[in-house]
Parts: sequence; structure tokens; C-alpha cells
Amino acid sequence: MSKTHWSGQTFPRGTSPASLPDSGGRQRRAWFLILLLVVRPWGNLVWAGLEDEARIQNREGVRLAQQGDWQGALLALEAACRLNPFDDTALANLACTHNNIGVFLVKEHRHREAIRHFRAAAAQKPEDIQIRLNLLAALVAIRDLEAADREARSLLVIRPDDPDLHLQVASAMQKMEDDEAAAAVLEKVLEAHPRHGGARLEMARLQYRRGNLAEARFQVTRALEIDSRRTEARDLLARLDREEPLESTFDQETSVHFALTYQTVFSREWARDLLDLFEEAFERGGEFLGVRPAQRVQVIVYAARDLHKARSLPEWAGGVYDGKIRLPVPTLTTTPDQMTAAIAHEYCHHLVFVLTHGNCPTWLNEGLAQIMEGVDLRRAERILTDEEGTLRLRSLDELAGPFSAARDREAAERLYAQSLLMVHFLLREKGLPAMRDLLGHLGRQCTLEEAVRLVYEEPLVVLLEGLTAGT
Ligand SMILES: [Zn+2]
Repeated sequence: MSKTHWSGQTFPRGTSPASLPDSGGRQRRAWFLILLLVVRPWGNLVWAGLEDEARIQNREGVRLAQQGDWQGALLALEAACRLNPFDDTALANLACTHNNIGVFLVKEHRHREAIRHFRAAAAQKPEDIQIRLNLLAALVAIRDLEAADREARSLLVIRPDDPDLHLQVASAMQKMEDDEAAAAVLEKVLEAHPRHGGARLEMARLQYRRGNLAEARFQVTRALEIDSRRTEARDLLARLDREEPLESTFDQETSVHFALTYQTVFSREWARDLLDLFEEAFERGGEFLGVRPAQRVQVIVYAARDLHKARSLPEWAGGVYDGKIRLPVPTLTTTPDQMTAAIAHEYCHHLVFVLTHGNCPTWLNEGLAQIMEGVDLRRAERILTDEEGTLRLRSLDELAGPFSAARDREAAERLYAQSLLMVHFLLREKGLPAMRDLLGHLGRQCTLEEAVRLVYEEPLVVLLEGLTAGT
């Protein structure tokens, strides 16, 4: 998210508003100094007076904005625009101030207020792409998908031939879970700019995520022809090399919300029963975390040994979520019913991913998945309690990274048990709405600490002291 710059004023050195945040948290000290000399013929003296007054108000507005007095700045700049509606400088400064207030509010996680300012800025300068992208990002962040979709589409119209902008819009559309619209935008970019490596890679990723592996391979190969050094493209190709030969022999079956790819050792009827269980999880997950994904979720079912071959997984892993749900079926005689817990668990990971865009610590993710799965809390307590009856807990840092790195099954069990206890504790403190808020803040790219403070009004470590105190 980027700030825009005030114009029409010369600023003395050292008075740039260094306290204003911008996109990367960087402080931009290089302000554009554009002194506009509006030459008008002598004429109506009353008009000239208003013009002077407008210039004074404009200067005052910029000065106040630099001091961080947003309200004062807005009042002065609005007055300048009223006094002289043809003063482009004042109009630009008003738009700039609204935009910068918006950026500031986003940093404060006050997205709805920010959106009002971005809209006001866009009304003054509708052709300013940066303002419009800020508005789009804020709408996506609060998941106002309808308004975001309108904004995304109007951006495409403003600059029909800007592939980079279209790429940004396509990526916003994917965050909005509208893969079809994103694919259509990317297709158009690639028609006009077949050698746009970024668009090729984005299309490859999208097709991979949707389970179209052959199309993904075609796109990623083209991306590498354009630039062979792209690490992300090479990684994706390596993934396809591992997965495509195995999955090309699989069958496919779909239900309303899931697309299942499964090894042919399982019957079609078995696959349909499994999809029914996934649809049940869809309903339960919706009630639990309040989200019902718009896109079909990709599920791949393997005989256990094959998944362990395709992925280097610890033997205790009951499933993998990597944007797709990958379920190992323990034996060929396993019935779909016996997979119910694993389905709930992995589907919960998908919901967490949709809500947080991957910005979720492992303990929170695994704790929620176990709650949706229905894991016994007392068992977790038993695992973590020592002979004296004290809970033995690991540090938060140890619980943030992947659990698959745990040295053995027992160590992994303790990590899962503690995750369950922690999430259960948070749910007991403030209930499910607070938990959904927490995930929402993480989805808006807050750090965990920030998100916890916003929702629970205490730092996480302090909050979790209640867990060991048994309160
Ligand atoms: Zn898990």
C-alpha cells in the first residue's frame, strides 16, 4: 500500500512528515517538489482574490498534513477546492491527504475508515492507480468481495494495456477466491504479451492449484523459457515432475464444493462416500469458522505409501495441506467413515488458509484443526502433565514452525497436545467470535502479537499464563 505525495508546495528541508507510514514501512524522505505557477490573464479581480485565498488554504493544508494534523489539513484543502474548483493542485493535495490518511488507518488496522478515505481520494483523482489499488487491497482485506470485484474490474478498464496492473488485479481476484475471473484476466494479458514471465508463472500457479497439471506444466515451461533463473518456476516444475506421473493415473470425481482426485485402487462408490463426508465437513467448518469457500477445494487421496513417496513425510502424518488437501488412506480396506476425523482436520487447515492467506502460526492452525476434528482435551492434558501434576509447556517459538520437523512421534504428539490446549484456552477466554476476529486480523497481515493484542487486549505470553495457572 503506497502513499502519494503532496504537490504545489515547496517544503523547507527537514520538515517532511517523517511520521507518516508508507507501503513498506519505509520512510520516504524524497518529496516531489512541484511548484505550479498558474498563469491566468488579468481579469475578474474578485476571482483573483478567491484564487489567492485558495492558494493560501492549499499551503496551510499541506503544512498541517505534514504536522500530522489530518483533520485540519482536510478542512483547509476542502476550503481551497471550494474557493477555486479549478485548482488542480489543491484537488491533487486533497486526494493525496485522503490517501495518506487511508494508508495510516490501514496500518492501525482500521480498514473500514481507511476505505472511506480511499474512496474520497479516488473521487478526486479517479485515474490515480495507486489510490485505486490501495482501495482494492483494503476491500479485499475486509472481504467485501462484491465491492472489491467492482473495483478490480473498473481498474482493468482504466488501463486496458497495462500487464503489470492486470497481474496485480488477477492476484487480488485470487485472494477474493474468484479463480475464473483471475484466469480470464491472465489469459488476456498473455494474449497481448505472450512473453510476460510473471503472468506465465501466475497462470501456472493458478492452474496447478486448480488441479490442471498439464496446463500448469505448459505455462511454467514457457515461464522458464522466458527466464530460466526464476526459482519459483523451477520449484513448481520440480513439484509437477514428482506429482504428475503419479496423479495422471488417478480418477476424478467432484461434488458441489470439492474436486477429488483418487488412486484407482479405490472404487467410484468409495470416492463418492468420501465426498459426502467432505460436504458434511464443509457445513461444520462453515459453522465453526464462519467461512464457506467459493472455490472447489482440491482433494487428493493416496494409498498411504504413495503419499509418503511423493512427499517426504514423517510416518505419523495423517494428511498434508499445501493449498490442496492430500490424504493418505492407511490401508486398502479403510472405509470413508474411518477418515472422518482426518477430513475434518485437513479441511480446517484449508479454512484457516482461506482466512489468513497462510499467515497463521502452526500451533493455532493445528489447535483449530484438532478442535474441528474433536480430539479429546483430557488426553492432551495427560500427555503434557508430568509426575508432579504440572503442565510442561514448550515456548511459543518452538510451536510456530512446522511440526513435521519433530524428532519422533512422541515429540510431535506433545506439540499437537499443547496446540490444542492453547487454542482451547483462547476459545474459553473470549469465544468463537474473537477467534474469527483473530484469524481475520492475521488475514490482513497483522503479526500474531498485533492480532492478539487487538482481540484479547493482552500480549499472548501474558494471556497464556492463565493456561499454566489453570484459570
Ligand atoms: Zn494438521
